[in-house]
Amino acid sequence: MTLLERDPKAPQAWQGDLPVTSRYTFGLAGERFFRAIKDEGRILGAYCPNCDHTYVPAALFCERCLAELDEWVDVGVIGEVHTFTLLYEGYDGSPLEAPELVAFIRIGDGGLLHRLGEVRPEDVEIGMQVEAVFKPQDQRQGSILDILYFCPLSGS
Ligand SMILES: [Zn+2]
Repeated sequence: MTLLERDPKAPQAWQGDLPVTSRYTFGLAGERFFRAIKDEGRILGAYCPNCDHTYVPAALFCERCLAELDEWVDVGVIGEVHTFTLLYEGYDGSPLEAPELVAFIRIGDGGLLHRLGEVRPEDVEIGMQVEAVFKPQDQRQGSILDILYFCPLSGS
């Protein structure tokens, strides 16, 4: 048998686990974006005047024209359910005690992936308006989880 021939009795794959963790920095735009959530309970976008496009979360450069973005805009804390799903398993694959509603919430010309709260799955509708519910300020850590969830606007 030459080096390039495969022994049919050889194992197909090595078995094992690879412990991998990673850490990403926020970057300049992310730093400011998360600081606004933590300190002010505000969601910031970055506006590109060339493209008339508001990036949420805020970005440092326009993906379309590559211009540096320095127009920060408060996009408010209300968005619209663009799509949603129900999670029955946690991120580690273990079953959840109760299914969790997760949605992509359109804000500006972008949006955030987050939980929905104070609503039953059967009452969620595409296009419904939802509002960010923040943790109390002294419990915020500069993370997207400083927003507990988005809940339907009262009266909608
Ligand atoms: Zn642009």
